[in-house]
Amino acid sequence: MNQLSVTRQLFDDVMVPNYAPAAIIPVRGEGSRLWDQDGRDYIDFAGGIAVTGLGHAHPRLVAALNEQAKKLWHVSNVLTNEPALNLARRLCELTFAERVFFANSGAEANEAALKLARKYSADYFGSDKREIIAFTPSFHGRTLFTVTVGGQPKYTEGFEPLPQGITHVPFNDLAAFAAAISERTCAVILEPVLGESGVISATPEFLQGVRELCDQHRALLIFDEVQCGNGRSGHLYAYMAYGVTPDILTTAKGLGGGFPISAMLTTAAIARSLSVGSHGTTYGGNPLGCAVAGAVLDIISDPELLAGVRHKHAVFMAGLHRINQRFGVFRELRGKGLLLGCELTEAWHGRSRDFIKAALDQRLLVLVAGPDVIRLAPSLIIPDDVIEDGLQRFEQAIAHLVSQTTQ
Ligand SMILES: *Cc1c(COP(=O)(O)O)cnc(C)c1O
Repeated sequence: MNQLSVTRQLFDDVMVPNYAPAAIIPVRGEGSRLWDQDGRDYIDFAGGIAVTGLGHAHPRLVAALNEQAKKLWHVSNVLTNEPALNLARRLCELTFAERVFFANSGAEANEAALKLARKYSADYFGSDKREIIAFTPSFHGRTLFTVTVGGQPKYTEGFEPLPQGITHVPFNDLAAFAAAISERTCAVILEPVLGESGVISATPEFLQGVRELCDQHRALLIFDEVQCGNGRSGHLYAYMAYGVTPDILTTAKGLGGGFPISAMLTTAAIARSLSVGSHGTTYGGNPLGCAVAGAVLDIISDPELLAGVRHKHAVFMAGLHRINQRFGVFRELRGKGLLLGCELTEAWHGRSRDFIKAALDQRLLVLVAGPDVIRLAPSLIIPDDVIEDGLQRFEQAIAHLVSQTTQ
């Protein structure tokens, strides 16, 4: 290999153009800070899209990865391995789950959940109970099945024909859901807290009502906690705070803290339908990913860490309200734990990406959740002084944006 320089331009020359990455290229991270090729530092309120829940290069995750790297990387599911079984046992101890399936991404965990729901229905109810109900807006991944379930036309256009038997109902609208569910419904999937779709929390009445209607119609309830799980909501899994338990739970993002791993959790009775040979993936449950996720789970299941997430939520909210008192650009500040949404006022609607750019100019990384909402998903252990430093940069960014716009 030659030693030609790596620049942002190279992306356009060698990569499929489905992403539009920012101009800087980070080369190193530590905690809630990143450094680019020129040694400039950035504060990370984005967390690699709610993934690096313990920041960058957490010593215990680095140690878990290195130790496992010296022992065993991969054996496939022809064999099992200790890190996978230990992680599955911990997930069962800590949640409603009795059985676990590992995959490598959120979409794959949801794909497994949806396939399991269809298979379970075929096993116990025959061919008339196939329908899946999902909610708009929502996001469940980019495989053809999960993207169709997500129900956003901009993500499915051009990829037809799409999988069939999927119905969409407005999120948090229990009456519409009650009208849509029937004996033909085999499963219902929802995010307890919408991530990509604007950081909107399910109301407790909605989740409770969906659970009751699923029970009445013998439909499986799937919670997609790919983004809101793993401590992000201030609880290990968001369902725990609602007191509403799903039949199947999927999670990914924060589970590996940056190492790609996902999990589908369910009961023993439902799991039975994924019998030998019915589903699988080569890398699912690989020792490296499971060793890292085991270390992540040890850290994030600590009640003190979870209380810290709720405390940091308050620190962020206070700071964001202060910024908004000065500029009045936010219509609503919302979210749970460290999944925060800043919805822009009408005047700023459609401009969330301008805020990302302005923040980047101040060396701060933030996310959007659609055109009208800025989303923050920082490390769950971000120190309070780094929060304040990042919020100051955010304030500067908004000051610039506002001054440019009113000129
Ligand atoms: C990110 C996300 C997914 C998809 O996960 P991938 O790892 O990108 O496949 C699914 N559901 C939710 C709620 C997500 O936030």
